[in-house]
Amino acid sequence: MTTLEDVSRTTKPVPPSQPATSGSASIELEHLTHDYGTRVALNDLSFRVQPGEIFGLLGPNGSGKTTLFRILSTLMVPTGGHARIAGFDVAAEPNRVRQSTGIVFQARSLDIKLTVAENLMHQGHLYGLSGALLRQRSSEVLARVGLTDRAHDMVETLSGGQQRRVELAKGLIHSPAVLLLDEPSTGLDPGARRDLWQYLRILRDQQGVSVLVTTHLMEEAEHCDRLAILNSGKLVAFGTPTELKASIGGDIVQLEAVSPWAATQLAVKVDQRFQVKTSVVGHTIRLEREQGHRFLTDVVEAFPGEIEGVSVAKPSLEDVFIQRTGHRFWTDAGLTHSSTKEKS
Ligand code: ADP
Ligand code: MG
Repeated sequence: MTTLEDVSRTTKPVPPSQPATSGSASIELEHLTHDYGTRVALNDLSFRVQPGEIFGLLGPNGSGKTTLFRILSTLMVPTGGHARIAGFDVAAEPNRVRQSTGIVFQARSLDIKLTVAENLMHQGHLYGLSGALLRQRSSEVLARVGLTDRAHDMVETLSGGQQRRVELAKGLIHSPAVLLLDEPSTGLDPGARRDLWQYLRILRDQQGVSVLVTTHLMEEAEHCDRLAILNSGKLVAFGTPTELKASIGGDIVQLEAVSPWAATQLAVKVDQRFQVKTSVVGHTIRLEREQGHRFLTDVVEAFPGEIEGVSVAKPSLEDVFIQRTGHRFWTDAGLTHSSTKEKS
């Protein structure tokens, strides 16, 4: 059995560093900020990822996920604040951070003309592994991702899902405590996605690896133990998927009007009559209410002819996003024509 200590003995020596300052957190952000010139991509993020959890960073395109991923993988130095992995500062101690971190990029990083095992050997060499230890690590990680029988096949003969699992094996070759994956489901069919998640859970449960996954897919975020939801570089929500959905309280009721203008007018009247907080997104009035079905009957009776359609549902993560930002997940904040009325 290879331990982290075995691996670190064989790798490039790094000078002794300060003891971990982050208690037991695997990843810790403290007022982390990143600007590209005048564009603020990350805006004062502070949160912690605990050991052995699958943590999701959920946000629409452009919300800053890849920027954070690049900072945590030591490819980029943040313009402000701090990020630490396993207690090591990403800017001050990048070598220590790299030893503690496995990285799976969004884009393929495999050499498809080499075999699976050859790809893993190259990766191992980059981390200072060689000889019997590297061969042992290689067969361990391949077993871990269910690809032992494909070790000597050329990568190009594998399916997309299998290739993603080789990426995972590559990220794990040096036994990192933390695994970072940028949009890992991109291009995978539903079956391969389920597979990937099964392997991530095995890593968490059997190896105690902390996993940070960036995603723009609500359905993928549902699988995470905890989530940070980003919008325009800001943290808008943080917690378990269940906590986040429960924070909404009651059901999500949606009322459709004939036009955005009619929706705004009707929202004012619904608000006055029932004393509820409403928000208008396009033609739709949204509100949160206990016993949504009963409320629907009352509201339809109260405003005959003004409501074109109704729905009631349990809150989803998208509802959490809408509640916190006032716009839909799939619309750019700056382009959305919507208003959120905040009463409390
Ligand atoms: P995501 O991965 O969530 O889609 P990114 O981190 O790629 O978000 O981008 C966050 C913001 O930073 C976006 O507004 C994007 O246009 C901008 N951005 C990303 N990379 C660069 C760059 N190299 N130069 C300038 N702006 C960038
Ligand atoms: Mg991205």
